[in-house]
Amino acid sequence: MRLLRKIIKRFTKPRCNVCGGQKFGLGPGERLSATGKRPRCKRCQSLERHRAFRRIFLELGPKRLRSLRCLQFSPDRTVDRRWFDSYEVSIFGTTSSLDLQRIDRPDHSYDVVVCNHVLEHVPDYRAALRELNRILSARGFLFLSFPDPSRAERTIDWGYPDPSRHNHYRHFGRDVEEVFRQEMPDCQVVAITTIDAATGTRDLAYVVTRSSDWLRCFGRLKLDARVCEQPAPAG
Ligand SMILES: [Zn+2]
Repeated sequence: MRLLRKIIKRFTKPRCNVCGGQKFGLGPGERLSATGKRPRCKRCQSLERHRAFRRIFLELGPKRLRSLRCLQFSPDRTVDRRWFDSYEVSIFGTTSSLDLQRIDRPDHSYDVVVCNHVLEHVPDYRAALRELNRILSARGFLFLSFPDPSRAERTIDWGYPDPSRHNHYRHFGRDVEEVFRQEMPDCQVVAITTIDAATGTRDLAYVVTRSSDWLRCFGRLKLDARVCEQPAPAG
């Protein structure tokens, strides 16, 4: 009986989708998740958003990424470097660090660019968006996220890294989708609402692409994926 209970517990307890771990601890600053659960996987250290975003890639199927060149800004557990043909990471404050506003790489040199929770730390995020689009190949996509913009209508930019707000320059609102259209007019954008199964926490990420294949793939995921509206034709 005890064994049976142990087995049931093992199969019903929340599991980390990065490492399979089932033990969770408090998050940064001793916090709980928005759903009142312990957010940090004790084995791989992933947090809610890492697992929520990883879920998107797992639903997509990492096999699709095998021939692609990936660049990630600031490492996190969203992707696994082994999924890609090549993988490069930019880490702030090290020799690998790239300036998002002026990325020292040729045009179209990556197929997958992952940029999670970085844009709110960048003074000129419009320049960063143009640069991300410039280094992105036509057969690829940009995976982009920042603290959930669906909670506010408008972006509030206070213009400096505020230490009382995690050194962010701004909080993005839903109007960021308009900025995508302005700064990356040749791209299409899919907004994907995802959920971390371990804590039940929702989050939002954007996929930006010039490829109709990727647009279709992400639009078809068994997640809440919405293609952002295209601008009205000029004239
Ligand atoms: Zn884990």
